Amino acid sequence: MTPDTDRNLQLFQRAQKVIPGGVNSPVRAFKAVGGTPRFVSRAQGAYFWDANDKRYIDFIGSWGPMILGHGHPAVVEAVEKACLEGFSFGAPTEREVELAEEILSLVPSMDMVRLVSSGTEAGMSAIRLARGATGRTKILKFEGCYHGHADALLVKAGSGLATFGNPTSAGVPNEVVQHTLVLEYNNVAQLEEAFALHGKDLACLIIEPIAGNMNFVRASVPFMQRCRELCTEHGALLILDEVMTGFRVALGSAQSVYAKSIPGFAPDITVMGKVIGGGMPLAAFGAKRGIMEMMAPLGPVYQAGTLSGNPIATACGLATLREIQKPGFYEALGAKTQKLMTGLKGAADAAGVPFSVDSEGGMFGFFLFDALPQNYAKVMTTDNKRFNTLFHGMLDRGVYFAPALYEAGFMSAAHTEADIAEAVAAAADVFKLL
Ligand SMILES: *Cc1c(COP(=O)(O)O)cnc(C)c1O
Repeated sequence: MTPDTDRNLQLFQRAQKVIPGGVNSPVRAFKAVGGTPRFVSRAQGAYFWDANDKRYIDFIGSWGPMILGHGHPAVVEAVEKACLEGFSFGAPTEREVELAEEILSLVPSMDMVRLVSSGTEAGMSAIRLARGATGRTKILKFEGCYHGHADALLVKAGSGLATFGNPTSAGVPNEVVQHTLVLEYNNVAQLEEAFALHGKDLACLIIEPIAGNMNFVRASVPFMQRCRELCTEHGALLILDEVMTGFRVALGSAQSVYAKSIPGFAPDITVMGKVIGGGMPLAAFGAKRGIMEMMAPLGPVYQAGTLSGNPIATACGLATLREIQKPGFYEALGAKTQKLMTGLKGAADAAGVPFSVDSEGGMFGFFLFDALPQNYAKVMTTDNKRFNTLFHGMLDRGVYFAPALYEAGFMSAAHTEADIAEAVAAAADVFKLL
């Protein structure tokens, strides 16, 4: 393809004149891996086509929402019907109630939810709720976990446990992050020390149970158990950010996975997004009734949204949630994900490339390491050059993985055994280049 005929390149050049970096969310710009982002012209099932009409097997699925694949007939039908009934009313609808009921029936740690339009909004509102409910100011997060781009969350660890964070973005005043404590993921000793020092001031601990924003790193069971115990002991609220893992790793979400190993395990507040909107802008946060009744208009914690509970988005989300409840859905999804992981691992082993894989339900990660990393610092020691060779090698062969080494991957119900075999065969070729 020459620059004259490469429509992706032409669009990227045009986009860069009118949109910062040519993209509306930074990771799409391929900055980490170099090269030209693929401009998607259409998608169906497990595939999308770029502006050059090249087909890709899509293992991103809009970063998680497309659990059924693109253009699932039942979802398309629900959305088409909803469109004809009106785009937005700014008034309550029956579908919001139905979607809330559906979510609550599947995740019993919540009695009530509030619907919003993005994961960022949901995470930000959940933290406000935690602060309002506890009357406390400090919050605790972990390095490598992403909870959206609210000011107080764009923060990296300060020096030592006594100091709070430093902003990671320009435009975020120090004062705004001075209440955010950032700790290392999976470090129990540090967690205990932090609670000993700050426990009585902590409104909440927010965590991705399976972190998908540092590739794929699970909170170990003992670590998650200590998070739960220390929050309870010190009166802080445990917020599970399940924007990515919610309905993605299991029908009961990641909290149901941890409840298998930690009897009675449940968060105080859950944040959801991605799958619950099925590809439309929709997210939510929820908790037990006593906490949720702190929200306006019942309580003193303010939160609002013109497009919240949008009728098209709720139709899309509901249709998606109904499909994933069909018998055997997660068994089939999980088996396919594992098949891809086993295939990639086998291809790497055959080429003598150090490689490790992990997955849960329809979410996966792979690393150019012999052993799975446990925290962000380790993930970020990945050999960039080799990762980029892997990424571009797969991309050239029509397989779309995340264009950054700190992102997870996603399987959909639409992927076939043949798609997986094609991806594994491509990987067998590409690993030889590493
Ligand atoms: C995607 C994501 C968010 C942010 O959601 P947006 O809809 O992009 O604002 C928050 N938390 C986690 C864990 C996510 O993966």
